[in-house]
Amino acid sequence: MGSDPETVTFRGSDSSEYLRRLPKAELHLHLEGSVTPSILRELSLKYQTKYHSLSEEELNQQLFQYQDFYAFLESYQIVCEHLREPADYLKVLDRLGEYFREENIGYAEIIYTPAVPWKFERDGKEILIALLEKTRELESTQGTMIRWILDCVRQFGPESAQRTAELAEEFQDRGVVGLGLGGDENSLEMKVFKEIFAWARAHRLFLHVHAGEIGGPQQVWDALLILGANRIGHGIQAARDSKLVDYLRQHTVGLDVCLTSNLKTGAWTPISENPFGLLFQRGVPVSLNTDDPGLFQTCLTEEFEKAVRFFHLNQEEVHRIVLQGVHSSFLPHKEKMVLMKRFQEEIHRLSA
Ligand SMILES: [Zn+2]
Repeated sequence: MGSDPETVTFRGSDSSEYLRRLPKAELHLHLEGSVTPSILRELSLKYQTKYHSLSEEELNQQLFQYQDFYAFLESYQIVCEHLREPADYLKVLDRLGEYFREENIGYAEIIYTPAVPWKFERDGKEILIALLEKTRELESTQGTMIRWILDCVRQFGPESAQRTAELAEEFQDRGVVGLGLGGDENSLEMKVFKEIFAWARAHRLFLHVHAGEIGGPQQVWDALLILGANRIGHGIQAARDSKLVDYLRQHTVGLDVCLTSNLKTGAWTPISENPFGLLFQRGVPVSLNTDDPGLFQTCLTEEFEKAVRFFHLNQEEVHRIVLQGVHSSFLPHKEKMVLMKRFQEEIHRLSA
């Protein structure tokens, strides 16, 4: 860190082209949050919802800009109400396939929330089966490895979470690698989910917990000590607690940081003051992610561009963050090492 942000060039070319071409891993990517204004417009026409008369631009103005985190959750819910059958979800996954190609994303862990279709009495398992089938097609036609995390919604309570854990376990050998907890940090306490997450861990699922996004450092402690999280979604508020920062570094617990998301939900503004830079300097394993590329209208290259610009990263530091994405993934050790070698070779070729 330390180079002048205005003069950043990697390999003598403009950094954004270099960043786009770098192999990247995206670890925090919600399928539902990948709905773009254009996909939402198609779905609103299909189902003739009350938004069907709005243009893409009007949808963008009304549903893709947020006053705060709760306004974002409201929009998220409206988007989810438009995802009704497997074909709708597959449309989003198809778009993600294009995104992975455009961005040279070699590995992605996509978060799917079956509790959303269940809430509307739809078949969340049928949707998962369709997604996993499409995943195999995408993996065979392009280079991206895709794995899945099934997310529980905190405010939906333990019963829905138990059902999600059982579904994740059932499809564990077909591409599901983890169980997650997302939703509103200020709703139910973590301890409500303790047994479910212990059960999932005993069934060899990795555990991903959203914590320390809008909630304080205690949320991150609870995710670690009550739920046994292997990786934390966001976790930026950990920067307020130096003991926690030390713990994350010593136990190599990854934080998936999402700069644009933090800005747009108001979780942490402005980006230049996001704790990402501090956490990175203190040796916490941080990776960069989009969270909801459709809803926040960002992409992984843009997240790296912002990190370079605001935290003055040099080329070697960018490479370290890219590789941290592989380190923090939920792949078994052997597969992780193969992917790591692939990334390292590609980075070497690009930077040679
Ligand atoms: Zn998230």
